[in-house]
Amino acid sequence: MRSDSPIQFSIVVPFYNEQENIPPLYMKLTEVLDGIGEPYELVFVDDGSKDNSFKVLSDIYEHDCRVNVVRLRRNFGQTAALKAGFDFARGEVVVSMDGDLQHDPEEIPRFLEKIAEGYDLVSGWRYQRTDHWLTRQLPSRTANWMMAKLSGIELHDFGTTFKAYRREIIQEIPLYGELHRFIPALASTTGAKITEIPIENRQRKNGQSNYGIGRTIRVFLDLLMVKFLLDYSTRPLQFFGLLGMGGAGLGSLLGGYLVYEKFYNHMAIMTEHGPLMLLAVALFISGVQFISMGLLGEIIARTYYESQNKPIYALREVKSHRKEMGDSTESTRPSGNPDR
Ligand code: UDP
Ligand code: MG
Repeated sequence: MRSDSPIQFSIVVPFYNEQENIPPLYMKLTEVLDGIGEPYELVFVDDGSKDNSFKVLSDIYEHDCRVNVVRLRRNFGQTAALKAGFDFARGEVVVSMDGDLQHDPEEIPRFLEKIAEGYDLVSGWRYQRTDHWLTRQLPSRTANWMMAKLSGIELHDFGTTFKAYRREIIQEIPLYGELHRFIPALASTTGAKITEIPIENRQRKNGQSNYGIGRTIRVFLDLLMVKFLLDYSTRPLQFFGLLGMGGAGLGSLLGGYLVYEKFYNHMAIMTEHGPLMLLAVALFISGVQFISMGLLGEIIARTYYESQNKPIYALREVKSHRKEMGDSTESTRPSGNPDR
């Protein structure tokens, strides 16, 4: 892997009230990364901790120049903390992991091997879960199963943050809300090559988990949103339009039938077919509304993509005989060089 950046690996770790866990994690990380022998950086994000985490991180920063500390103004949550770390990272390969010692730095080299094999994203798979069956494992398994079905990506485990990415992939992904769980699905829209490796997931020894059962509902809402984003964000009318046409169509048929009964058979619609008439009206109105929602969606989607100059495709590589504009020194280089 050749590059302009001298840094090969960035390890991004978010911390929220993890003061006891920081020193052992840091020791282990440096031991493993020094063993690899490539230039690296550590990006530690303090997500507005209320304990001494920032102090501990600052002490480490003082005597290790490979350590960077990004401190958020308040607790923004894991996704935002990760995003801050990703934006700061300069390594060719970015690895993210939890700061609570549930992820073992010893496993990092195996992630890096997969990236070297040519994958863009390597995801950890907690093949033996240690956390509570009902509140954590069951919701997580259900969400993973749905996620795999919806996104068409064959991963066992979407939920863990222990992952490695090529930097351009992770920096392109818009992250907000609780979306860090959906990075593989979002990355797949850019055409990233994705794989997974089994990892261990240890019990948390110090501090406590920041999440409980309450997160499940939010994850499912996000799931719905991601599915919509993946399939219909560039063509919302296709989604709403279909519902709308269905509703309005069925409503019109029912309405037509009622009109026929009224004028040809002189039936008293209100008393004979009251509920049916209500249904026809409701279907028709909601159908029309769905169609207009789809049209509004189209307008919003256009504003979104155009205002941000957001490409609707992502390139992996370009081979061209055309010289890059203003780049006269390039002419001596063989065209189609895959490195740049
Ligand atoms: N974390 C964070 N901000 C938060 C919550 C969590 O930066 O608001 C960090 C936390 O310090 C840990 C990682 O995200 O390094 C995973 O959090 P946790 O262990 O609470 O989640 P779980 O392992 O239970 O899914
Ligand atoms: Mg944890």
